Amino acid sequence: MTTEFNLNLPLAHTALDRDYLSRERETLFEELWKDHQTLVLPMREGRVLLTAGGELKFYAPTQITKNSDLVYLGKDLESSLPVVLAMLTDVEAFELEPISENWHGLRRSGLGLSPRDAAVFTQALALSNWHGSHRYCPKCGNSTSSVRAGWVRRCLDDELELFPRTDPAIIVGVIDSEDRILLGSQGVWEDNRYSILAGFVEPGESLEAAVVREMQEEAGVWVTNPRYLGSQAWPFPYALMLGYLAEYVSGDVMPDGQEIVKLRWFTRAELKAEAKELLLPGRLSIARAIIEHWLGEELVTGE
Ligand SMILES: [Zn+2]
Repeated sequence: MTTEFNLNLPLAHTALDRDYLSRERETLFEELWKDHQTLVLPMREGRVLLTAGGELKFYAPTQITKNSDLVYLGKDLESSLPVVLAMLTDVEAFELEPISENWHGLRRSGLGLSPRDAAVFTQALALSNWHGSHRYCPKCGNSTSSVRAGWVRRCLDDELELFPRTDPAIIVGVIDSEDRILLGSQGVWEDNRYSILAGFVEPGESLEAAVVREMQEEAGVWVTNPRYLGSQAWPFPYALMLGYLAEYVSGDVMPDGQEIVKLRWFTRAELKAEAKELLLPGRLSIARAIIEHWLGEELVTGE
C-alpha cells in the first residue's frame, strides 16, 4: 500500500498497521517477548543492521534484552507479525555487532531497501530521534520515562505527558511564466549543489502562508497559488516535508545571503544538459521527486 500521489516518494510507503490500541496494554512487551515470531529491530544511534541481501535485519526477542528502550511499531501489514524497535545502548549494540561500519543509516541505505523496510526504518528513526531528545521534562527538568509502548514520555514528578513530535516543513518548486524552475544553493553546500527551496512552518502559520513567506525570505520573490503535491517523513531528526508547486508573481531573484547564496532559473533543457555536472537532490528526497514532476521525466545525474 502506498499513500503517495503522483510523486515518487521512497519514504512515503505504509507498511505497518500501527495498531494503536495495543499500546495501552501494560503487559504488551511481556506478551511480545513470549512470541518468538516478534520482529525486533535493533537500532544504534539511528543506525540499523542489514542482512547480506540488503534487508533490515530483525532479531528474535530472545536475542535482545527486554530491558532495552523499546517502541512497539505495529503489525506488518503482510505477515501480521508484530514489529518492535529496540534502541540499544552503546554496550548493548557492541555486544550485538561490534563493527561500527556494519550499522547503516537511512540516508545512505534507504534507496536500496524494499518499500516495507524503508517505511519501518523511517518510522523507527523518527521515534528514536524523538526519544533521544526528550529525555528531560521541558517543565521541571527532571527525567522522563517511556510509557504506552514507547509512544509517550512522561515526567514522573508533574505527570506531564510528551507526545512524539513531527516538524512540518514546506518545500517548493517555484515556476515562472516561461515554465522555468527556481533552484538555489545553500552556503553550507558544495559550490555546484542546487535544490528547490524549503523551510519550516512557523507557529501560528498556515502551510500556504509558509510557502509565500519562505520564498520571499530566501529568494526575494513573491509567489501565489501554492499547489500541494504530496508529503513524506524526513526523520532527520523528525521533519515532515510537504511538497508544493507555486507560481512566481514578482520580485527580483535575490538570495538572502544567509541560508541561500545562489539562485538560478532553469529551463527543462538547461537542467537536463547540466544534470551531470550539477549536484542535485538525491533520489530519496522529495526535492528530487518535485523536480522530476516538473521535468516530466527522471533526471539522469552524475551521482
Ligand atoms: Zn516535569
